Amino acid sequence: MKNDFKKPELSVSDLTRSLYNVSKKLQQANQELMVHERESALFYANISHDLRSPITAISNAIEYLQANQDISREELNETLNLMGERTKYLTRLINDIFLLASLDTPASSVHMEPVNLRFLLEDYFYMNQEDAAYADCDLKLELSERFIEKNLMALLDPHLIYRALDNLYANAVKYCDKRPVITLGADVAEDGTLVVFVKDNGIGISADNMAKIYDRGFRVDSSRTPSADNGSGFGLSIVKGIVECHKGNIVCESTPGEGTIFKAYFSDTKENLI
Ligand code: ADP
Repeated sequence: MKNDFKKPELSVSDLTRSLYNVSKKLQQANQELMVHERESALFYANISHDLRSPITAISNAIEYLQANQDISREELNETLNLMGERTKYLTRLINDIFLLASLDTPASSVHMEPVNLRFLLEDYFYMNQEDAAYADCDLKLELSERFIEKNLMALLDPHLIYRALDNLYANAVKYCDKRPVITLGADVAEDGTLVVFVKDNGIGISADNMAKIYDRGFRVDSSRTPSADNGSGFGLSIVKGIVECHKGNIVCESTPGEGTIFKAYFSDTKENLI
């Protein structure tokens, strides 16, 4: 009689090994999911705290004005200023949350167009030179010879690139304890990698905080008092999101007391640059 029994292609020890590998991968995926869930929970806790505190301040101020109709002109102005400041903060926070959410689905929100990189950076630089917000800063532009020679055209969303640069410039001013010197620069390495950087002479970032600066809602000073000048803590996560949706990656180097440089690298030149 013909024996139909076929020897399995994999031995028991092979099967055990692959089962072990699969279960290890599942464990790893599970851990990543748990980290992601923890990060999301923290993100939403931060957002609801950040939204709730200005709303509470505004509604308290309204109640106060309703209950005290005969307050002095000075006190009225102070209360209205506080309400205005909290409203500005809320508006910025909501805009940042919308932008972050839209960067999670770049296909529908990012509008790429061919742009000459040198002109884009020069336009941004000269625009800021005219901007009152940077009147007390030294602004510098450092475009390397190779960058200028290459005359690169890139597919990018200019509004998003300006938005990322705005965040980096605003931080360079905010986190500086002397006259800010802000340098915008670009260079092309031998292997064709493009780097665009923003360098400042500010207070710098400690090694401990460096790992957290791109976390959504992270602020080194966590007092979280909402004011028109305070950041939402979403700035650098927005910058990172914008660089990544242009297939780049962002690196930060900093020396506390000396300054910080943010570099965006774009190495996928075939796909990104035209
Ligand atoms: P924020 O809205 O608080 O500015 P960001 O996401 O832009 O949030 O930055 C996160 C934190 O990283 C800031 O709270 C700040 O402490 C630190 N940081 C960002 N940029 C700089 C910089 N250029 N120099 C020093 N610290 C910075």
